[in-house]
Amino acid sequence: MRLRQIAVATVVLGVLCVPAHAEARDISRDTLPANDGWAAYGTGTTGGSAADDAHVHTVTDRAGLVRALDGGSDTPKIIKVAGTIDANTDDDGHHLDCADYATDGYSLKKYLAAYDPRTWGSAKPSGAQEDARQASAARQAERVTLPVGSNTTIVGLGDSAVLKGVNLQVKNANNVIIRNLDLRDAYDCFPVWQPNTGGLGDWKTSYDNIWLTGATHVWIDHVTASDKGHPDADEPTYFARNYLRHDGLLDITNGSDLVTVSWSRFQDHDKAMLIGNSDSATGDRGKLRVTLHHNQFESVVQRAPRVRFGQVHVYDNRYVVPEGSEYRYSLGVSTESGIYAENNAFHTPGHIEVVDLVKSWNGTALHQTGTLFNGYPVDLLAIYDAYNSGSERDLTADVGWTPTLHGKIDSAATADREVARGAGAGRIP
Ligand code: CA
Repeated sequence: MRLRQIAVATVVLGVLCVPAHAEARDISRDTLPANDGWAAYGTGTTGGSAADDAHVHTVTDRAGLVRALDGGSDTPKIIKVAGTIDANTDDDGHHLDCADYATDGYSLKKYLAAYDPRTWGSAKPSGAQEDARQASAARQAERVTLPVGSNTTIVGLGDSAVLKGVNLQVKNANNVIIRNLDLRDAYDCFPVWQPNTGGLGDWKTSYDNIWLTGATHVWIDHVTASDKGHPDADEPTYFARNYLRHDGLLDITNGSDLVTVSWSRFQDHDKAMLIGNSDSATGDRGKLRVTLHHNQFESVVQRAPRVRFGQVHVYDNRYVVPEGSEYRYSLGVSTESGIYAENNAFHTPGHIEVVDLVKSWNGTALHQTGTLFNGYPVDLLAIYDAYNSGSERDLTADVGWTPTLHGKIDSAATADREVARGAGAGRIP
């Protein structure tokens, strides 16, 4: 009798614990809709939708995720993430912190003493502490960098799937879908000092939440990517520079091509999205074609996105700069970039002006229409050229291409409302 009561209670609890969203349809075999951005080009993007039953995995910890990823194999596979997976764990699932990775005598205190610019100068760090940092960093990378191969779909189950500390790396792979996942805090325990970056030197960190490198046909949809748990603003300053712990939220580099990023949230972060990582990477010419639509960028300092070489369609996105947050710019126009921006809405505090939204380094063109700035229509290009005539060269509106692969383009006001409500993990309708 007693046992039966417990069994009944368990069943009732089990039902109560299932969130309403868990009743939602199975998204794991979805494919990118026709014409939905650059990833729909040619053969489109189907991810692991053709997986046989033996290659459909539900994973709940790092070890299971690693097994399911299968070393980045190209076997069609579907990976469903349930709950929170922490990449910084050992094979038994025990959490590893930075001290667990440190090896060969590395200590931050000794590292700072060794490469203080006032005594070390501006040479690249070398010697015992830099060697020890590299060895320690390799131990962390072995845990947190997870390769995603071709023909793979990774989806979160329900509205609570989290990948914490993970650097998902889609490297030289084709046909990948990543949806409904909260990717947070790709935290680097061992930043390197780069004395010659930007005049003052800077700290360089290793991990993007998602890194597409040589990746083609990728659809990223309804993800949330942030530094949640470890904001860089709370990190100390060393050598007069913020000791950054995070690199990009989603970086797209090294000949990556045909990417659609939709209905996602990028937030609480410095450098959100880099498309093209070098002016000298001329192999990126004709590639880096990316569509960004219905995404929200909130509390992002810069790179939303910053573009080199690529034809990038940026439409129906929502940008929010809260009062008191650090801000540099949103749209970065760099070498040979072709940003085609339509119907994006910006919300900013009073000290940010329209001209601040765009920054150019060696860029030549920006197409923009339908921009809303705190509810008012503005012409980003005309204002940019009017204010920057003394320093940077003027940008022209001719980016050399017109997008044809896209869904319905809403007005900025409509998109603004719908993105606020519907973008991010756990919000697939
Ligand atoms: Ca990066």
